[in-house]
Amino acid sequence: MHTEIYLDANATSPVLPAAIAAATLAMAEGFGNPSSSHATGMKARAMLDAVRARACRLLGVGAGSLIFTSGATEGIQTAVLSALCAIRERRAQGEATGDLLLYGATEHKAVPESLAHWNRLLGMHLELRALPVDASGRHRLDVLRELAPRAALVCTMAANNETGVVSDLDGIAAALDGSSAYWMVDSVQALGKLALDLAATRIDYAPFSGHKLYAPKGIGMLYVRDGAPYTPLMCGGGQEAGQRAGTENMAGVAALGAVLEALEQGAAFRTHAQLARYRERLAGALQSALPGVVFNAGFEVSLPTTLNFSVPGFSSKELLDLFDAGGVRVSAGSACSAAKAAPSYVLVAMQLPDWRCAAAVRMSFGPMADDAFIDAACARIAHCGEALRASCLIPSSVPSESRDGVIQLGVDGACTWMLLDAASRSCAIIDPLAPLAERIADFVRCQGYRVRAIVDTHAHGAGRAALLALLEGQLERAASRDPLGWPADSECIALANGMLVNAVTLGGKVLARLPQADGDFGRVTYLSGTALHEKKLAAADVRFAFTGVALAPRLAALIGPQTILCPAHEQGSMSCTTLAAEETQAAAGPVQELDPPALERFLRSHPDALLIDVREAYEHAAGAGGWQGRAAHSVPLSRLADRLAVWLRAEQRPLVFFCRSGGRSARAAACLQRLGYRNAWHVSGGLNLAR
Ligand code: PLP
Repeated sequence: MHTEIYLDANATSPVLPAAIAAATLAMAEGFGNPSSSHATGMKARAMLDAVRARACRLLGVGAGSLIFTSGATEGIQTAVLSALCAIRERRAQGEATGDLLLYGATEHKAVPESLAHWNRLLGMHLELRALPVDASGRHRLDVLRELAPRAALVCTMAANNETGVVSDLDGIAAALDGSSAYWMVDSVQALGKLALDLAATRIDYAPFSGHKLYAPKGIGMLYVRDGAPYTPLMCGGGQEAGQRAGTENMAGVAALGAVLEALEQGAAFRTHAQLARYRERLAGALQSALPGVVFNAGFEVSLPTTLNFSVPGFSSKELLDLFDAGGVRVSAGSACSAAKAAPSYVLVAMQLPDWRCAAAVRMSFGPMADDAFIDAACARIAHCGEALRASCLIPSSVPSESRDGVIQLGVDGACTWMLLDAASRSCAIIDPLAPLAERIADFVRCQGYRVRAIVDTHAHGAGRAALLALLEGQLERAASRDPLGWPADSECIALANGMLVNAVTLGGKVLARLPQADGDFGRVTYLSGTALHEKKLAAADVRFAFTGVALAPRLAALIGPQTILCPAHEQGSMSCTTLAAEETQAAAGPVQELDPPALERFLRSHPDALLIDVREAYEHAAGAGGWQGRAAHSVPLSRLADRLAVWLRAEQRPLVFFCRSGGRSARAAACLQRLGYRNAWHVSGGLNLAR
């Protein structure tokens, strides 16, 4: 493994080797300033003119003009500024211009942001209005027809960057018939994928970006219709016929020229039918790997190079982590912050269900993709699906490895804990959270475990009822259960101080219920131990205490210094702790970190160090598993509490945690340090920096 499968072409594309060669040549030999009148300058000018002429041919620019820009964002600014200045002049002359700046609800943010910016700067006080789209993502032409008489400027993209939905430009033009509004079409995602004949349309402005089609970043183009008003964004030396001052980005122009040459020759670019077949194959691979996957845009109305999908039960962050571990680069279909994905405004505008808007993933490839690339991508997607199956996160007919010990699951800082006993294939679930019910139920069924108890430490939410409904068949019968779910017919055992409590057994493990105060069973702690001696659970044998929302006052007499406290809510970023750490109020201290080169030195000087991958088990399984060829143990954060119960009791061997980017490993190392384990380290930057 691990060549990278890059499926994020709508964000940016790799640079075509011929484009790199052309840029290099432009810098090495054709370095002249195209405004110079000597031979060196004229050679550069000839290249500039030739690329422009090719672009004009390809885009059907006709009598219009094509200006080289730094990219689409600049093109958008220029178009908006030009239109607004013209509207202002027409208004000053007493002409009615309309008062609306209309933009498609699914436009790239560069469009509404530019409209708001220039509207404010120019003091225009026009009203910005989002033009709604229908469930398929296409503009509501009925609304456009209604608003057209009031529109001063209309902005509608040619194809959407998140979903690939292709706009009905003919329909929009018809709806604008008779309107004096200017029309900008952001054509970034159309270049090389849709045939364009700009001068034959009513479009006034069309911005393009090189880096979305195999050219480098920093080069773009703006089409301006013959007769459309124009105001330069930058003034100076009169370059680009005075329309865009500043010495041209000649390396960028040369590179873009090489791409346009390949596009014009056609051989390296796939036909629409070929690309649609590639999409079918990728969609098929996703359907086999991720049961229940739904596609968020109809294939019949979208670019064949973009797939936007959501998978029930998975956040986009989880899927991105999985794919990234498997070497498949995709992106969230939504603006994704480290902690939580904000729902995609594009999918929200299409009025898709909330979960699909929040959990979307975008997979996009370039129009030069080939069979070998798609074969490799499909194989890798299948491998990612297998990793999920092996982790019991999606139904599997293949028996997976039985899990034992404690697993922590969380939502927004709240925790559910599972206690598993592999030998007896039984488990207990503590403080189940409603959003996790399906996942827990799938996991328990996949593992084939009997459920001894589903209990809460305190009254909260509907999680237990939701899980009970799903796991009824797996739950052990009880004559009755108390309001927190505890079975009435549990046995009686003694704790370290002689106190008698009820307990259930899971093979060799025991789970005992400790009321917060005598007779107060409305708030309880559950103690989990490994060994009973004459029906007594010694303090040292209590491995875990599921403490709920408050520590029971008498806990200190009943558990050992290394008992792991598992609360119902994370404190800071700590999911578990010990009484000793709580009593000394141990400060986290700066986490000990190693960058990848320091790690190499550390491992040489500490041959007994253990490398630990704290990514989820499916990420570990989807990737090569280790750290640059070195074997590593998989201990996801969800299993950290379980391992802590062992590590804190053992000799302090150096532990080096790593993950994808260093966030999760820092949390793991900080947790160990706070609990007094001094020999815990993490790798800053994670696997991202190691590759
Ligand atoms: N418009 C669309 C549809 C895009 O996808 C992008 C890039 O993400 C832009 C505009 C901005 O392009 P650039 O990066 O060239 O400024």
